[in-house]
Amino acid sequence: MVGWVDNMTAAMRVEERQSYGLRGRCPSTGVFELICGCMFAGKTERLIDHVHARHAKRVQVFKHAVDDRYHPTRVVSHNGRSCEASPILRASKSLKTLRGDTDLVAIDEGHFFGDNLPDVCAAILRRGADVVVAALDNDSWGCPFPMIDALRNLADVVSVKTSVCAKCSRPATRTQRLTPITDNRFVGGAESFEPRCVQCWTPPPASPGQITRDASNTGPWVQHSS
Ligand SMILES: [Zn+2]
Repeated sequence: MVGWVDNMTAAMRVEERQSYGLRGRCPSTGVFELICGCMFAGKTERLIDHVHARHAKRVQVFKHAVDDRYHPTRVVSHNGRSCEASPILRASKSLKTLRGDTDLVAIDEGHFFGDNLPDVCAAILRRGADVVVAALDNDSWGCPFPMIDALRNLADVVSVKTSVCAKCSRPATRTQRLTPITDNRFVGGAESFEPRCVQCWTPPPASPGQITRDASNTGPWVQHSS
């Protein structure tokens, strides 16, 4: 049964890639890594590693403009490492500003962006640049962010990061909301969220207007640092 599931997953990936025009990768097509997991799992650290490994002039880094907790124009990890980044409101802006000599596009906190992020990533890959996206896989209610499955199927490499449960020190795969929910457009950090294992995690209560996945699909939803 496991093999059957694996085969089905592989078939779905091929179909997903076909829909993005990425079947039959050629040398001029970029490579895509998705870095996902809960908060405080080191996702941004890995993204910064990728950025620093490349020639600075051939890398473009993007972050959502709403995420200005640490710095308005830098991606900053919890360990204090950082790199220059262009703040944008829509993922399509990264494609519009893509330079001809760029060989890596890095997008932090991908869950902040709308459902067109996979389309944008595929377009960048078709233009020959590699793409790395760091994103939360689930929101505070344990629900997958809308574009995560599509990004996962599109990715050549999926790096699933875990943290350490703040309660029991088991591997943490969930994000625990610590503060009351007043809307679905919250940006916060360690004062509002912590990593939990599935045994210690409890979803917050629903609130009016919570997780409506509104028709605009422009995000951001519930947000926090990685
Ligand atoms: Zn725990």
